[in-house]
Amino acid sequence: MSSARYTRYLVVALVGLTFFYFISRSSLQIPSTASFPNPSPSYEDFKAQKLQSSGNNSSERVNATFVTLARNSDIWEIAKSIRTVEDRFNRNYNYDWVFLNDADFDDDFKKLTTSLVSGTTHYGRIPKAHWSYPEWIDEDKAKEARDEMDRKKIIYGGSESYRHMCRYESGFFFRHPLMLNYEYYWRVEPSIELFCDIGTDPFRFMKENDKKYSFVISLYEYYETIPTLWDSVKKFMSNHPEHIPKGNAMDFISEDGGESYNKCHFWSNFEIGSLEWLRSKEYIDYFSSLDQDGGFFYERWGDAPVHSIAAAILLKKEQIHFFNEIAYYHVPFTHCPTDEQTRLDLRCHCQPDENFDWKGYSCTNRWFKVNDMEKPYGWD
Ligand code: GDP
Ligand code: MN
Repeated sequence: MSSARYTRYLVVALVGLTFFYFISRSSLQIPSTASFPNPSPSYEDFKAQKLQSSGNNSSERVNATFVTLARNSDIWEIAKSIRTVEDRFNRNYNYDWVFLNDADFDDDFKKLTTSLVSGTTHYGRIPKAHWSYPEWIDEDKAKEARDEMDRKKIIYGGSESYRHMCRYESGFFFRHPLMLNYEYYWRVEPSIELFCDIGTDPFRFMKENDKKYSFVISLYEYYETIPTLWDSVKKFMSNHPEHIPKGNAMDFISEDGGESYNKCHFWSNFEIGSLEWLRSKEYIDYFSSLDQDGGFFYERWGDAPVHSIAAAILLKKEQIHFFNEIAYYHVPFTHCPTDEQTRLDLRCHCQPDENFDWKGYSCTNRWFKVNDMEKPYGWD
């Protein structure tokens, strides 16, 4: 077919099709699309709507933030944690989220986490001075200790970065410039899960009830990681009796009035707490005293026993709160409310028989005992 003829056929066909289209529209009375409601509103409208409907409770917020210490490589694990926290709680509150790292966060990490968090995100780099050896530490001795613990197969025993991490969480995260404007924090680690709706704001609960520290899971510490921690605590207590109030929770962590440590601690991968308490003279004196003794490096003191002992000796017992309603998982333990009605009311999806509270290695039993709290039916 010559190209002139081809063009002629094409023009005729197009004219025919156009003609047929108009005829069929008018005869069949098909309304133009403009008279249908717009099936796809613009993305901007959608976002504005979402913000309006999701920010229900944001006007009731207290001055608080989520905080996560993470590496860039934790991105997918922290994404899961953010999703669960947003779905069960923060989508209705839009609290800020602070991310801290000993290196710079990369763009992928920032882009993804900002898209997942309903509140404002902030990214901070940890100053070198807070993630390195203080001058009084003998680094050779620290290395020997790591090698020895590695040989003994103690968990994280050979890791240098884990020790910096524990020391940072024990003594510095609350002093990071990005944290200074907040009053309360909620610590979130990678790969955690929440199993129940959190309908009331735990931050507000903390503030209105003068709570300073809270937990969902407690357990016994691995002794090999803290052989001299209690000696160090006792030294602090005898140097600073003015920091130890009557009515504290010493009975939770000691069976003999403070002579020895029973190794009970609150599991600090979950924490909702007061930053102002951690920044107080009492806590800073405590941390500095422990830090001088070197156990973060010569042993492998965890931030969990360090925070827990501080809460138990520096606070009044009533200032520590057990959040039964916050059902939580961090490998390998679960807290799932014992009471069925609570689980149904809060639309929980945890398996009750996985609840760690009353199992042998949990200290929550003891927490109930020393507080004269009634245990759920069937557990006394
Ligand atoms: P585990 O829960 O005791 O097994 O320890 P994790 O591996 O979960 O570490 C505790 C927290 O510190 C998590 O939020 C980690 O993302 C974070 N973390 C651990 N090591 C490092 C590190 O070297 N650098 C940074 N930036 N974060 C770390
Ligand atoms: Mn963890």
